[in-house]
Amino acid sequence: MTETLLVTITGPDRPGVTTRLLGALAPSGFPVLDIEQVVIRGHLVLGLLLSVDDASADARSQAVAAVSAAATELGVQCDVQPGNVEVGSRHPDRLLVTVMGQPLCPAGLTAVAGAIAERGGNIDRIVRVASYPVTALELEVSGADHDDLRQALARVASDSGVDLSVQHPGLTRRGSRLVVMDVDSTLIQDEVIELIAAHADCQEAVAEVTTRAMAGEIDFAESLHERVALLAGVPVEALDAVRQKVRLTPGARTLCRTLHHLGFRVALVSGGFHEVVDAIAAELGVENVRANRLEVVDGILTGRTLGPVVDRAAKAAALEEFAAMYQIPLARTVAIGDGANDLDMLARAGLGIAFNAKPVVRDQADTAVNVPYLDSVLFLLGIPREEIESAEPCPVESDD
Ligand SMILES: [Mg+2]
Repeated sequence: MTETLLVTITGPDRPGVTTRLLGALAPSGFPVLDIEQVVIRGHLVLGLLLSVDDASADARSQAVAAVSAAATELGVQCDVQPGNVEVGSRHPDRLLVTVMGQPLCPAGLTAVAGAIAERGGNIDRIVRVASYPVTALELEVSGADHDDLRQALARVASDSGVDLSVQHPGLTRRGSRLVVMDVDSTLIQDEVIELIAAHADCQEAVAEVTTRAMAGEIDFAESLHERVALLAGVPVEALDAVRQKVRLTPGARTLCRTLHHLGFRVALVSGGFHEVVDAIAAELGVENVRANRLEVVDGILTGRTLGPVVDRAAKAAALEEFAAMYQIPLARTVAIGDGANDLDMLARAGLGIAFNAKPVVRDQADTAVNVPYLDSVLFLLGIPREEIESAEPCPVESDD
């Protein structure tokens, strides 16, 4: 055990406060074991842990007197507490818990903190990573088991309406990663097949099958054949009109641009169609697309698809293929989706994110995002708001 002094300073912040306080302690020569400082609304909170092993009682009192005098002069509060710590005793099982809400209220945070404490976890540190358009906090937690805490927090998330993720910190969160996204109702707000169906006057029939397929009630491949058959006779020009109608999910551009800016790889894996998805990918600078193809004969949709169907299994296989192509380990992959056909891909990825997902998907994914902004996924990846803004070409986006 090492003998320590814990110095806590609180009060109005201004340039030079930290320098002056540390300067007052400099003559003591006491080693700094830890220091954390935060400024909220101009109010400073500074915690400083000094080792005082081998220091005489006189030297300690002199240091306390010096820092107290400096604090008085600066008009801030100073509290000094003696104690002991085991140096280097950081808990081996550290976890990062990201909490997001719009707004984030004390009740939600209480539920999160309560669940962590009940599982023997301690919150060592809280850092705000975003204040707009959602409030996002990153909690460093020690002493809790990953799976146990993830399950407990999944319940908190569904009860309290905050979005939560639990991840292992460290290397898997750093360096280049691969992000694979579903398209319909994830990257875009629409289901493309329903937009095409509007041109065949069979929108309701198609929508009904889509809903059952996305909820996992019927096999995806079978549902796709059934729905595409209803599109027989639609002229191929209708696809141009559909491409114009597609609405990106708010935050989609910011997400793609920031990921590219940070050197991440991005791919779209869709149960929809190349004929529409390729244009969306090009607009967002996404190079890789895996989707179905519609058969066209004499300028008319035949009601059949070409080649293998991109179903639930094919989506997971595509994730693995793209990861292998970029030599990115699966632990460093992120999959985002909303439907039952995304489940295998979400399970296979290092981090599977259910985005405004159907209940069956939300219950099984690593983490669920329920705020309607796709770029809030960035906060789960530990990318703070400031870095996102630094990737933006102009201060505010018009369409996100
Ligand atoms: Mg979808």
